[in-house]
Amino acid sequence: PSPVSAYAADEERDAEVNVRPRRLAEFIAQDRVREQLQLLLAGAARRGDPPDHILLAGPPGLGKTTLANIVAAELGAALRVTSGPAIERSGDLAALLTSLGPGDVLFIDEIHRIARPAEELLYSAMEDFRVDVVVGKGPGATAIPLDVEPFTLVGATTRSGLLTSPMRDRFGFVAHLDFYTPQQLDALLVRSARILGVALTPEGAVEIAGRSRGTPRIANRLLRRVRDFAEVRADGVITREVAHAALRVYDVDERGLDRLDRAVLAALVASFGGGPVGLTTLAVAVGEQPDTVEEVCEPYLVRAGLLARTPRGRVATPAAWTHLGRTPPPGTFG
Ligand code: ADP
Repeated sequence: PSPVSAYAADEERDAEVNVRPRRLAEFIAQDRVREQLQLLLAGAARRGDPPDHILLAGPPGLGKTTLANIVAAELGAALRVTSGPAIERSGDLAALLTSLGPGDVLFIDEIHRIARPAEELLYSAMEDFRVDVVVGKGPGATAIPLDVEPFTLVGATTRSGLLTSPMRDRFGFVAHLDFYTPQQLDALLVRSARILGVALTPEGAVEIAGRSRGTPRIANRLLRRVRDFAEVRADGVITREVAHAALRVYDVDERGLDRLDRAVLAALVASFGGGPVGLTTLAVAVGEQPDTVEEVCEPYLVRAGLLARTPRGRVATPAAWTHLGRTPPPGTFG
């Protein structure tokens, strides 16, 4: 629940399903990751084994869930979906693991949030396809070993740094997804517009692509909002002018920063003299959870050269001052 998304997550998920690529060949960009995954899947198929466990790391909205779906589709396997925070007790995880069919793909989103006892259970399942379920308490407690069918775990994390090393070591393949270039988002928008039946001119696509924070989910979301504007206030065609006017209504600025991004920069500059300031203090100043600021806003602000993380705290770069229409004080970190 952050101002980044203007409406309910459920609605967004439904809207995303239509444009979500189903096969590796439809997945735009991330060429290296695509090639590596393709080899991993083809190698496993030749041997007739499930592929190694896969870890996908990167900021929200770059395609981790999409890739998990694609892995299952390419393998012709069933996909089971859960998330770290949803696994509260190790018993729940044991039940899930022992119910997997041979070759199933298990997707665990936000795997860095999994509780420690469940994490340990997951290790043995990943490594030996076995879990020990402890029955009873105290001296009478017994561990009952249960078999797990060979499966492939696909883990996703926005914070690979928070994964314990035994966890990370159990993944045979780790992919880091990076922000997309405007050209790549342009291609993505053309594809989405075709699927949604939206009239999008090449210039309209460029305008939206440049303001999508390097993120496919945001590009698709802006496309839907600009489509509303084009249908209600224009003739339904998304031209450069229509996109420009619509994005002004939705408070997306020319670098693609949204309200929360700008609030973070404005607080840094106006309330803390450009920093350094600690993450929690900064988050309180904008009325957000530290996690949201750190995982949703900061990766792009850092990437865009507007914010720096230093050992003493967050710092606004000279470009951030300029972006807010202010003159950076002399000697500003940069
Ligand atoms: P994450 O799990 O990393 O938060 P998702 O996989 O849910 O991100 O991606 C968000 C949306 O962006 C998806 O619904 C999908 O339509 C779109 N998307 C992401 N990556 C790509 C891509 N490489 N090509 C086409 N569409 C993509």
